[in-house]
Amino acid sequence: MSLNDAFGLQVLKTAEEETRGWKMMIGGKWVESRSGKRMTSMNPAYDEAVAEVPAGNAEDIQLAVEAGKAAFPAWSKMHVDDRAKHCRQFANAVRGMSRELGMLDAIDSGNAFLPMVDDAKKGASLHDFFSGLGMEMKGETIPTPGGGLDYTRPQPFGVIGRIIPFNHAISFAAGKIAPALVAGNTVILKPAEQTPLSALWMGKLVQECFPPGVVNIVTGDGPTCGGALVAHKEVRRIAFTGSVETGRAIMRTAGIKSLSLELGGKNPLIIYPDVDIDKVAAAAVAGMNFTVSQGQSCGSNSRVFVHSKIKEKFIEAVLARTAKINIGLPELESTQMGPVITRRHYDRVMSYIDAGKMEGARLLRGGTHAPGKALQKGYFVDITVFDNVKHGMTIEREEIFGPVMSILSWDDEAIMLEEVNDSDYGLCANIWTNDISTGMRMADAVEAGYVWINGHGGKRFKGAPFGGFKDSGIGREHSIDELMSYTQMKNINIAY
Ligand code: NAD
Repeated sequence: MSLNDAFGLQVLKTAEEETRGWKMMIGGKWVESRSGKRMTSMNPAYDEAVAEVPAGNAEDIQLAVEAGKAAFPAWSKMHVDDRAKHCRQFANAVRGMSRELGMLDAIDSGNAFLPMVDDAKKGASLHDFFSGLGMEMKGETIPTPGGGLDYTRPQPFGVIGRIIPFNHAISFAAGKIAPALVAGNTVILKPAEQTPLSALWMGKLVQECFPPGVVNIVTGDGPTCGGALVAHKEVRRIAFTGSVETGRAIMRTAGIKSLSLELGGKNPLIIYPDVDIDKVAAAAVAGMNFTVSQGQSCGSNSRVFVHSKIKEKFIEAVLARTAKINIGLPELESTQMGPVITRRHYDRVMSYIDAGKMEGARLLRGGTHAPGKALQKGYFVDITVFDNVKHGMTIEREEIFGPVMSILSWDDEAIMLEEVNDSDYGLCANIWTNDISTGMRMADAVEAGYVWINGHGGKRFKGAPFGGFKDSGIGREHSIDELMSYTQMKNINIAY
């Protein structure tokens, strides 16, 4: 079965028809880009073009800002419970369409189909979560000398820009607009240029569930389209998820705006010798996200610091588990791991693997194109595990964003901690030990915004603030902090 598989082709065809030939959604209408330019979306499993979508630029962003501004007064004045009704209706609609949206992501991003169906549902669930929190957007009263009343009210910004990456296309497109909407803002969503299809088809649900202009979806490349959104004077709040490099570019061009940045990670998994080796190997493999996104996840535990006493047994267990992962065509239900996103990214991951070998790390498995006749056209990198990685090597320092795990061993806790923290990144950390004091002491000491003790990167909990220290970003998501970050506080003073 290939892309000609009836379900995949049918989904593509239906989505193309529903979006009137892959148009953008601005002001509740399907529109072409003003310039008429289009860009090609590729299927990474077959190295073939699947669709042409509008290549938006500053003119299209301007139209979207106008649509968002026109919708803002009524949307922001609506009671939060009524906004929540729209969001919950949207969540149900996304769930109802999750198999089709998941298939579009499989075709467009290369991520395996079934995990992408779950991704669509995860995105939908954030609307339920933030809708439930809506009434918690409270102000305070402040004591004032000589009577009177001083109070604060959180108010929305207006039109906000939401820029997302490729690795969880539908989950991010559906879910990351939720807190901004519940808080009373209107949104311009800019999907990644590699994965516009699921977001565009979601436009049909936007049309059904929200008043025109409340959610606008503009496709285009990073600098021209995303850059125009960031630079727009009337967009006072930008929320960005993506690479550190783009985060820096956004900080340079945004001017005076409220910004949140969810950026990359090079996350440590620290393993003490007192653990159950099989359980920690399972967590290490799950936490690398081989099976959801080919390791293309900000939270992947790509640096494993294992105590030398148990290293050999740990490696054995990791290799046994990775051997069971089914690398295949993403549209198949049996597939667990697909190709990386683009040819360029494939080459980049391969150049990191070469650097690992050149700098003296020991290749334990992978390091090449994934085997299998059906996979030869696509950008399939085999699951790659390196041992004898030393602190400071390129593969230990830089975010590879691919299926490459680096194993380092340690004996001295103080030296290990120094190496763990000697990184520009600080997104997640994972500590495995059976000694709770050790776990809590290390959790305090690691420089990371989100820490698991005996958990793994696949386990994130709603309500728990997610975000990074250092270059991994600014701001926290999935929590009340995120909802409040889409408001600005107004102070009001009344004299008696
Ligand atoms: P990217 O930074 O290349 O692109 C992300 C988005 O930014 C895309 O929509 C792109 O078009 C847009 N963009 C690019 N240049 C721009 C510019 N100058 N102005 C405005 N927008 C611009 O990232 P990517 O390759 O799509 O995603 C991978 C990165 O995302 C990794 O570093 C990963 O760790 C990070 N990420 C972080 C999180 C998190 O929650 N911390 C989650 C997922 C991914």
